[in-house]
Amino acid sequence: MLFTKKATFRGGVPVPHWKNTAEAETLQMGVPSKVYIPMLQHIGAPCTPVVNKGDTVKVGQVIGTSDKLISAPIHSSVSGRVTNVAPMVVFNGQSVMTVEIETDGLQEVHEDVKPPVFNNKEEFLEQLKKSGLVGLGGAGFPTHVKLAPPPGKEVDTLIINGSECEPYITSDYREIIENSWNILLGVYTLVDLFGFKNVWIGIEDNKPEAIKVLSNIAAKDDKYSDVVKVVKLKSRYPQGAEKMLIYACTGRKVPPGKLPADVGVIVMNINSVSFIREYIRTGMPLVKKRVTVDGPAVKNPANVEVPIGTPIADVFEFCGGFRSEPVKVLMGGPMMGVAQYSLQYPVLKHTNALIALDEKSAKIPPEGPCIRCGRCVDVCPMNLMPLHINRHSLHGDVEALEKYHANDCMECGCCSYVCPAKRHLVQSIRLAKAQLRQAATAAAAKGGK
Ligand code: SF4
Ligand code: SF4
Repeated sequence: MLFTKKATFRGGVPVPHWKNTAEAETLQMGVPSKVYIPMLQHIGAPCTPVVNKGDTVKVGQVIGTSDKLISAPIHSSVSGRVTNVAPMVVFNGQSVMTVEIETDGLQEVHEDVKPPVFNNKEEFLEQLKKSGLVGLGGAGFPTHVKLAPPPGKEVDTLIINGSECEPYITSDYREIIENSWNILLGVYTLVDLFGFKNVWIGIEDNKPEAIKVLSNIAAKDDKYSDVVKVVKLKSRYPQGAEKMLIYACTGRKVPPGKLPADVGVIVMNINSVSFIREYIRTGMPLVKKRVTVDGPAVKNPANVEVPIGTPIADVFEFCGGFRSEPVKVLMGGPMMGVAQYSLQYPVLKHTNALIALDEKSAKIPPEGPCIRCGRCVDVCPMNLMPLHINRHSLHGDVEALEKYHANDCMECGCCSYVCPAKRHLVQSIRLAKAQLRQAATAAAAKGGK
């Protein structure tokens, strides 16, 4: 079933889309000579490596585990020999224990890889944990934890995020076009197990083909057609942000500091539900990822499916290398992506795009003084006052930063995008958050004395 009323949220900005890779089929990248698999690729506790230098490994073999509640196991994406287990700096500048594997090119599958067997929700969650699935849209929250909200939180609604509102990125779109049945079958499994009363699949109106394909399939099955609805969302950044999507689909507002489950909702990325279906069919854990490779500096933009742990440099090389010197490489889109300091950093479970910018597109204009036009306030989807947070973070006024709720900022970048004075608002809000953390740590230490 298709909901035709265009749903949206307050604030946000229209951004140019440059979805250059939307119409091309996903390419399969071969196995690189080496992969680097960090033991932290999710929100939560890092894994401890369970392999040593010199061990041989196969595809799908567990190489890292954790007994902490919020974590997800990590598997080898290749067959080969472990050549090192040591700390490595990853995409966000953190140093993380990493398993380095020299591949043998055989891609032998580990004998433990078998379709999971489950008879109820609890057994399904146990099996899902073993798959290593984390949110594939970029957040990386372990899915088996997300699907088990704490007691007392009644969840009746599942929202599938297919909005993909960042410029360039088409990884979710290609999943819809190439594996639409997998997505719906994954959704139906979740409805049967968890009893969701409503499932909303949210897709922006600039992807009419995706909306058509999924709503046609959703309408076919009488058992689910009243529950599962495709909703056409107004194309507006950051439509894919969890709180915006929940409001657009259901009209429910997630209060600051609360989670979707507090308003009866779980949000999952469209690639994550599709993965669930594939995992049930094959038992292969999360070992590969579709990545949109694009940006003005890239020679042949494409969606590429790569083994997790592949160095970024190898992925760009597969796409023909660079047409001009890349001045900035982002993991993620241009609005919220993280700048990479080395092309040796590996692709992770939640990497959805690699964007290479040339000199012109990466240029940061100099800051001017704030003219108090209020545009940053108008576009902020979190109802914040970025101009004031900016001013107070520059003066280190922690009390004022608390008063202006700096911690509620989701760093979407809308304020910086519209600011005519080109104020570096997001950077200063990140600084504000660090100042608040520092003040909280100092207060706790003082209280502990
Ligand atoms: S948009 Fe820029 S110039 Fe306008 S009020 Fe905000 S910070 Fe100041
Ligand atoms: S203040 Fe934060 S949430 Fe608001 S527009 Fe700026 S980056 Fe986005």
